[in-house]
Amino acid sequence: MNIHEYQAKQLLAKYGVAVPRGGVAYTAPEAENVAKGLGGPPWVVKAQIHAGGRGKGGGVKVVESLEDVRETANRILGMNLVTHQTGPEGKEVKRVYIEEGCDIARELYLGILLDRANARITFMASTEGGMEIEEVAARTPEKIVKVAIDPATGMLPYHARKIAFGLNLESRQAGAAVKFMMAIYDAFTDLDASLIEINPLVITGAGDVVALDAKMNFDDNALFRHKDVADLRDEDEEDAAELEAARHDLNYIRLDGNIGCMVNGAGLAMATMDIIKLHGGDPANFLDVGGGASKERVATAFKLILSDPKVEAILIYIFGGIMRCDIIAEGVVAAAREVSFDVPLVVRLEGTNVEMGKKILGDSGLPIVSASDLGDAARKIVKAVGKAA
Ligand code: ADP
Ligand code: MG
Repeated sequence: MNIHEYQAKQLLAKYGVAVPRGGVAYTAPEAENVAKGLGGPPWVVKAQIHAGGRGKGGGVKVVESLEDVRETANRILGMNLVTHQTGPEGKEVKRVYIEEGCDIARELYLGILLDRANARITFMASTEGGMEIEEVAARTPEKIVKVAIDPATGMLPYHARKIAFGLNLESRQAGAAVKFMMAIYDAFTDLDASLIEINPLVITGAGDVVALDAKMNFDDNALFRHKDVADLRDEDEEDAAELEAARHDLNYIRLDGNIGCMVNGAGLAMATMDIIKLHGGDPANFLDVGGGASKERVATAFKLILSDPKVEAILIYIFGGIMRCDIIAEGVVAAAREVSFDVPLVVRLEGTNVEMGKKILGDSGLPIVSASDLGDAARKIVKAVGKAA
């Protein structure tokens, strides 16, 4: 789960991370009131959406008068902000954050995440603040300092000093940066975060170390331990179909292609997507309907696939073990009764109650093409969308 910048800053401040003072606003008059309470000028009006690159997209503005706070908030609220992270369709801005303007001497980058390759919580830092870390990694990888933390010791001051030296900080700043990083680590582990990114981490004219931006992601599987964090969820920022799927315990992730996939088991779902790609097709989603799904859950899953206007054909690929083929078939038929559709279905069922499943689908009158194995299914589904196009 992601949260907004202002929420991340509030959480991090509780752990002792230095952040500028600020407040959130939903309307322009509210924005002006927040600014009055902060003491400026300058102030910064910042669009709050779950995507980075807001500055370049016109969603972050430094302003010098209360009138400009109001006008800028008015302009940014309701705007469709397009950044490289929102995709071309952009995101509507519904909240702005009003913050004290900061006197920036240096912009640095600090990130902390779980590095799966070495199974360690790992800090990444770079002198190239404000830039995308992916870009720095691609062009000038030598400018990234990485420090992995051994879970047996946790974070120790020498870890933080190593990063501070990598960032060429003077000794006074290094002291402040060490405290800053220890606080970030505490927040990361304590809140079961999966990513904290401070870009930029700023050294101010006065020599202080401050988080000017903050992005936090959390491990969904640990949210039950953090009700306060779970309450920060902003459903406006999330994909409606994925939210609906989560409500039904379905593992559904929307992708960019046009082939809807209904598969059971994450491994088989991945293999199915791979083989569709191999045959020149593009999956519209990842979906694992799981082990013991009910007919209702299968129907919900099928409706989710159909709710995507990009879907031009659907591949149902089920190996019935715990999941029974007849339940899948009943779910698909039930969904088809509720929402009419005319995209072709390529189906391969195998395993428990396969004959019953095939009969239910065969009797349903749905436009079904049967497949004999994974390669056959992929060829047929790719051919089906080829025809649709
Ligand atoms: P994003 O990463 O989405 O573009 P940031 O919060 O990083 O948004 O802001 C973009 C840039 O705007 C920063 O790199 C910084 O130069 C400037 N900026 C952001 N907040 C402030 C602030 N409080 N004071 C001065 N400049 C700021
Ligand atoms: Mg940023």
